[in-house]
Amino acid sequence: MATMFYENEINDQVLRGKKIAIIGYGSQGHAHALNLKESGFDVVVGVRPGKSFDQAREDGVAVMSVEDAAAIADVIQILLPDERQKAVYEAEILPHLTEGQALMFAHGFNVHFGQITPPENVDVFLVAPKGPGHLVRRQFQQGAGVPGLFAIHQDATGQARDLALAYGKGIGSARGGLLETTFAEETVTDLFGEQAVLCGGATALVKAGFETLVEAGYQPELAYFETLHELKLIVDLMFEGGMETMRYSVSDTAEWGDYVSGPRIIDDSVKDRMKDVLADIQNGTFANDWIKENETNRPRYTKYKEDGANHQIEEVGKKLRSMMPFISEGKEKVVVK
Ligand code: NDP
Ligand code: MG
Ligand code: MG
Repeated sequence: MATMFYENEINDQVLRGKKIAIIGYGSQGHAHALNLKESGFDVVVGVRPGKSFDQAREDGVAVMSVEDAAAIADVIQILLPDERQKAVYEAEILPHLTEGQALMFAHGFNVHFGQITPPENVDVFLVAPKGPGHLVRRQFQQGAGVPGLFAIHQDATGQARDLALAYGKGIGSARGGLLETTFAEETVTDLFGEQAVLCGGATALVKAGFETLVEAGYQPELAYFETLHELKLIVDLMFEGGMETMRYSVSDTAEWGDYVSGPRIIDDSVKDRMKDVLADIQNGTFANDWIKENETNRPRYTKYKEDGANHQIEEVGKKLRSMMPFISEGKEKVVVK
């Protein structure tokens, strides 16, 4: 069984009075910085000049260059895109690392796959919320919290574990629960989850369902409601009470169809391919491919992104959502474009 920690069990004193540098002010960065600040911690943001820098300033957070932030901080949380971390770490963070500082991550990719090997005299740990950054922020503001993982890679000061727990509490993740893991387990399971189920699996399933209906002559707007819009409503019920609650709320006809047709769609062959995807993550094939893709200016990434944006489901969705402003009302803007 997993070891879990919740808010009231965590003493965050060890992090009070320490300077926390949040490197990067994107999806996770803005959420960590603002949540920690509102939890009463001493936060500075380190980021290059540009959009994020301006945003941090507008949000009222102290903001400076990556180098300056790394130099003055006790705890340095690297929230840059995974594929940029190695270069920025080597040029702008490593030269300023001193004994007893703490180096943090929100995903174990670079440490686990050997891209970043921190010196032995600093603490190295991760605190990874299990949710998109904008929801880490939104839920915190609502008094809730996205659950998180934490893992200790190196404990140079003897305080790494307490610091990790205090940090997790500061961003609100201890409200949902902090689960203790290792860099290896976090890295592999995070990549697998997003590829096989959450991002890759879910979008491929929706797209295939949408195309099947449209190709059979049904109206695209209806297909959008049926396969994308309603998925959220169904997932909300699973989120609240598991599959049982979802099945309680849908009609018995829908429930029967779930039992007899679901396994015809997601069968053992899908699971076999999931095992292949898992193996590629475990043995480093996925990581090497992604690192290479970045070294060659992302030709495939760019093509996939364009194809995705040009798909009919996005066109139809944009039109329908513009008539449902209540979907995004009162929410911090996340929507692209
Ligand atoms: P984003 O892409 O949202 O944020 C990137 C930030 O880094 C931006 O502020 C960007 O600034 C800045 N940046 C990029 N390049 C540089 C550079 N060369 N020098 C200085 N700043 C730079 O990242 P995410 O929040 O998605 O990911 C951060 C980490 O969190 C990753 O390790 C990821 O795996 C992990 N994570 C992410 C989750 C998510 O919800 N997205 C969920 C859980 C973990 P600019 O505006 O100038 O480009
Ligand atoms: Mg994840
Ligand atoms: Mg991830």
